[in-house]
Amino acid sequence: SLRISVCSLALSIKRLPFLRISLRTSSCITELWHPTLLVIPAWGPRESLSLPWNPFGMGRAVLRNCRRFLPSLGQPSGSRWLMLESSIFLATPSHTMIRCWTPQPCLVLFPLGMDGMVERLALIYTSPWPRGNASLPAMEMTKWFDTNYHYIVPELGPDVNFSYASHKAVDEYKEAKALGIDTIPVLVGPFSYLLLSKPAKGIEKSFSLLSLIGKILPIYREVVTELKAAGASWIQFDEPTLVKDLDAHQLQAFTYAYTELESSLSGLNVLIETYFADVPADTYKTLVSLKGVTGYGFDLVRGTKTLDLIKGVFPPGKILFAGVVDGRNIWANNLASSLSTLQALEGIVGKDKLVVSTSSSLLHTAVDLVNETKLDNEIKSWLAFAAQKIVEVNALAKALSGHKDEAFFSANAAAQSSRKSSPRVTNDAVQKAATALKGSAHRRATNVSARLDAQQKKLNLPILPTTTIGSFPQTADLRRVRREFKANKISEEEYVKAIKEEINKVVQLQEELDIDVLVHGEPEVRGMTWLKYFGEQLSGFAFTVNGWVQSYGSRCVKPPIIYGDVSRPKPMTVFWSSIAQSLTKRPMKGMLTGPVTILNWSFVRDDQPRFETCYQIALAIKDEVEDLEKAGISVIQIDEAALREGLPLRKSEEAFYLNWAVHSFRITNSGVQDTTQIHTHMCYSNFNDIIHSIIDMDADVITIENSRSDEKLLSVFREGVKYGAGIGPGVYDIHSPRIPPTEEIADRINKMLAVLESNILWVNPDCGLKTRKYTEVKPALTNVVAAAKLIRSQL
Ligand code: GLN
Ligand code: ZN
Repeated sequence: SLRISVCSLALSIKRLPFLRISLRTSSCITELWHPTLLVIPAWGPRESLSLPWNPFGMGRAVLRNCRRFLPSLGQPSGSRWLMLESSIFLATPSHTMIRCWTPQPCLVLFPLGMDGMVERLALIYTSPWPRGNASLPAMEMTKWFDTNYHYIVPELGPDVNFSYASHKAVDEYKEAKALGIDTIPVLVGPFSYLLLSKPAKGIEKSFSLLSLIGKILPIYREVVTELKAAGASWIQFDEPTLVKDLDAHQLQAFTYAYTELESSLSGLNVLIETYFADVPADTYKTLVSLKGVTGYGFDLVRGTKTLDLIKGVFPPGKILFAGVVDGRNIWANNLASSLSTLQALEGIVGKDKLVVSTSSSLLHTAVDLVNETKLDNEIKSWLAFAAQKIVEVNALAKALSGHKDEAFFSANAAAQSSRKSSPRVTNDAVQKAATALKGSAHRRATNVSARLDAQQKKLNLPILPTTTIGSFPQTADLRRVRREFKANKISEEEYVKAIKEEINKVVQLQEELDIDVLVHGEPEVRGMTWLKYFGEQLSGFAFTVNGWVQSYGSRCVKPPIIYGDVSRPKPMTVFWSSIAQSLTKRPMKGMLTGPVTILNWSFVRDDQPRFETCYQIALAIKDEVEDLEKAGISVIQIDEAALREGLPLRKSEEAFYLNWAVHSFRITNSGVQDTTQIHTHMCYSNFNDIIHSIIDMDADVITIENSRSDEKLLSVFREGVKYGAGIGPGVYDIHSPRIPPTEEIADRINKMLAVLESNILWVNPDCGLKTRKYTEVKPALTNVVAAAKLIRSQL
């Protein structure tokens, strides 16, 4: 039977925290670590680089090294974990190959410095690397759909030759089988693989990725054949791209791919899985008319229309994998409601044709609630991490087949109703304030140019003002102080004194460097994230001890859980910002994280729409902004690093999201005086398609990443978009230790001046400096200021 039994699994989840695990059949399914897509391109002439070592061998040596170092890195560790993401993908050694094959692309090839750890690993990694190669440009790393999980984007061209490089899928199938677990191997399907790639540089416009479909299928055939030989009875193809907007031509390619694979797949049960949204109606039609497919998997949590599609038509005899347990969140399932959905579905697809499933991979949720020692029991009763979700899936499947665990179901119902009625969740005042927001668009009364004039009168800044994004380097002293304070070895007074000293140092340094608008350096935040810093001071937030979710490579995040109405009991940053301002006559930026970013980086409640939670956070930040203003802070930066991340997967839903996201940002600052200058900061440069929303945020100044993007950012202004607010496209890449020469920065500024008016241009680095050392920051900022002064003198 396809119903689920799960007993051995909780154990393996604990052991393999980042192996995607989901349960679909009589035992369990191990899945490929997602973005390690199955095949990689090898292109460029084989001779272009002769390698003095065997890359496979080197891969292993590096791995050994990493495993030795991993435990010291302070992340969830375990050799198995690293092994899993370390399959080596290699076809032929060529220049491009090196960028592709590396088993741990994060080690060398990921943008360095996104956190200290990556760099430390990079050091280990670069040692056996011939000089020069370490500076090969990184391949693009991008988010897996709208998750916080990343993959390296394959670059494809017409001459690509695919080869079957990694036998990971087969090896892991065999490994599990040897342990007595029959799994469904999961492959990223050929259609999604190609569409998640990108055309190689220079042929972006002229090359169709799907033209490679015929070339890639033979590799899939090889894998399938090997899996069959190894004894697999099922195979799952993930085709999440199907939830995006697709045209008829693309759908044709999809049908072509699976029709071509049909004969190789015969004898296997084939599951095509989609997730993260519902499949558009046309796509659904194409999908369910495929031949040779045994079953289809759908996300019934985020796919709100899928149920209707299935009710409309579902091919007789096929199996439906019903994703009713949310793989993207940490909330306990409403079992009663899921059970009734499942019963309705069973009525449509037939008995024995329904499989209970998670809505998506469990990679995007935390691992096991059992590891949470600090959450109280009430909150815990509302939650389900990966291990608990599997138990839920199992309980639902059993209930469906007439073996309902009444005790489990009633405990679940009790938890659901306690969550609904808990005063910790609902705060009437917050609800009222959020409802009251609806009548207004929250726009500042004066337009941006007039505001900039008013601010200039007050701030009296030179043309091309210089600033930084917020954080300054972490020092050993600072780390010690924080450690000692955490361990109660020093008193709060001593801690405050030490942080004050650090702020003072940062202020002194910026004055010496002659920077115009200062920052306090964020020493009180370093060692955690702003998200945690705020979350701990806001009501409605909870923090886990071990709720790690993989972001990429060895990098994990621990998203806060927003479980209740959000409010701000007392000021959060005013204390430190006021101290910082008191140390200088220059303007000191207040530093906050915006509501959209807080929302997008958290596990968000599922009992109200996302925008409502966002509005609540916006109200809390608004209070903070206004308190900062009252305390005499006249420049306030509200970072919205993750605004773009929340973009829905389908174009038709973008406008709605952008509208409430941008509105939330405006709520935070529409109440300040004209003379208070609102900055925002964004850590990415691909905002060309959302430029109108960015303008609609109506910030006075935006600082934005720019230096790694071949000035993609500037092209939007070159094409005529009018931007009246202040803008500071980063003049150098803080992700690298390299110190940018003055001339280079000056050159960049000149390029910007070619498209932007000098009276709106700011000069600043790409992002915060927390991952750098003072020995890098001082000379780099010296050159930044020198370049700004040089250009000022030429204007
Ligand atoms: N103010 C933050 C810093 O400088 C910004 C970080 C971010 O944008 N992610 O570190
Ligand atoms: Zn940034």
